[in-house]
Amino acid sequence: MPVWPQFFTVRRRRRVRTRKRAPAASYVAHKESARALISERTRHHAELHTFTFGRIAIRDTRRSWGSCSSKGNLNFNYKLLFLPPCLREYIIIHELCHLRVLNHSVDFWREVESLMPDAKARAVALRQFERTSGTSVSALTKLTEAHAECSQCLLIE
Ligand SMILES: [Zn+2]
Ligand SMILES: [Zn+2]
Repeated sequence: MPVWPQFFTVRRRRRVRTRKRAPAASYVAHKESARALISERTRHHAELHTFTFGRIAIRDTRRSWGSCSSKGNLNFNYKLLFLPPCLREYIIIHELCHLRVLNHSVDFWREVESLMPDAKARAVALRQFERTSGTSVSALTKLTEAHAECSQCLLIE
């Protein structure tokens, strides 16, 4: 009697369908402008510091700003678009340095700081902000407004 196998496939299919959430409207609206900006800045730093990377993917990740795969592909959160330039640049440098050191060892931070001496201060500032204000687009936009006169932001062309 095929009653059980049938029942099982129906349940499995339904579970898979509900697990996948629809893309957020904000992600759909801003994905391509995020891709343009992030690609431009990543290529800029890759040329300047001779990094070679695979492809760039823009995602709506819940808990990360970026990641680097062992194959040399880079993933970035589309919300980088809403970050102050100095923090966006820090994340891009951080992920590029993972192309050379794939963990967060002393060697990794030495690499990051050779390209961006105040990288750790930027990382701390970003974490601090996330803890107190979260990562909503409106919170990030307010933070960016507060960086209007930030000297590190103004250095970025
Ligand atoms: Zn990292
Ligand atoms: Zn800034």
